[in-house]
Amino acid sequence: MRLPSVDKERLLNVPHASGLLGLWRRAALPADVALKRLGLTPRLQRGALILLFHRIADDADSFHHCMPVALFDALCAHLRRHYQVVPLDELVTAVGQGRLPAGMVALTFDDGYADSYRLALPVRRRHGLPATVFITTGAIGHQQPLWFSRLAAMLSQTAQSTVPPSRGVALGLTSTTERIATYCELSEHLKRLGSHEREAWLQELSDLLGVKDFSGLRDEMVTWDELREMDAAGFRAGAHTVSHPILSHCTEDELREELTTSKAQLERELGRAVDLFAYPNGRSDDFNAAVVAAVAAAGYRAACTTVFGANGPLEHPYRLRRVILYGATLPPLALQLERFFYTTHRR
Ligand SMILES: [Zn+2]
Repeated sequence: MRLPSVDKERLLNVPHASGLLGLWRRAALPADVALKRLGLTPRLQRGALILLFHRIADDADSFHHCMPVALFDALCAHLRRHYQVVPLDELVTAVGQGRLPAGMVALTFDDGYADSYRLALPVRRRHGLPATVFITTGAIGHQQPLWFSRLAAMLSQTAQSTVPPSRGVALGLTSTTERIATYCELSEHLKRLGSHEREAWLQELSDLLGVKDFSGLRDEMVTWDELREMDAAGFRAGAHTVSHPILSHCTEDELREELTTSKAQLERELGRAVDLFAYPNGRSDDFNAAVVAAVAAAGYRAACTTVFGANGPLEHPYRLRRVILYGATLPPLALQLERFFYTTHRR
């Protein structure tokens, strides 16, 4: 007998739509507070969540992780109603003190895309939620577009049906799905290279694919004026290096330069101290003990990774974990949010 097929997206709606998730939330938060007051650490312990966003847009290409504006709006309303959204530095302090109020959340955006000013800022303002945007300073203000944006532009615009195998691989470009798979494969390779070698590759690809005009990307990132306005409106800037390299692959000099120059540029432009940092790419092999030491030596007080999970009491301040919410509607996002609070790692 064949069982009826179940639509996964509709199944994920059930806890939210039926009110079960709300019931769980209303019971779980006070229970967590009460247990913490009693000094008990239950097996299922709620941590603090740092949400990671990249782009907020309705018309972004499929090469970027992107949340539609209306969904971001609904998520902000949900967060404001049910959780305690705080500035990232407040969350860092609470983690450092080992005192985490139940339901503490901070919002972070990586790279500094212009839509974080044009589209996310008005929504965030309307809901009164603080946030942090980690800026790759070398791409700000109509400078060189980020290398992975140039790669995406080449692969989406080229008239070629394959990436010719000049470096030993032929990769397909016959459909959007194939172009995205090619993007993933090439970007995984390119992000491991030093910046000179990566630029040489990109130049060669640009010649092979016949895409040389990147003027369409000129407005992709925020400008310094927009960033100052965001910073004053509670959308605080943190550093994300100058050129977005994988820091564990940098030489000692490159590492120091990336960390100190981006910090100094932001402090000069914003007129205040900047002491929060996010590792480019941010997975566990993208930074190491030497990188962590260099981040501390450069004067940052905390650093965010992209390692999945909630942050428990006394989480390492330079290894803060973050989560990305995936879904097309609010119910699966609401379910993920509740679930992710319980993903602190146990020592
Ligand atoms: Zn980034």
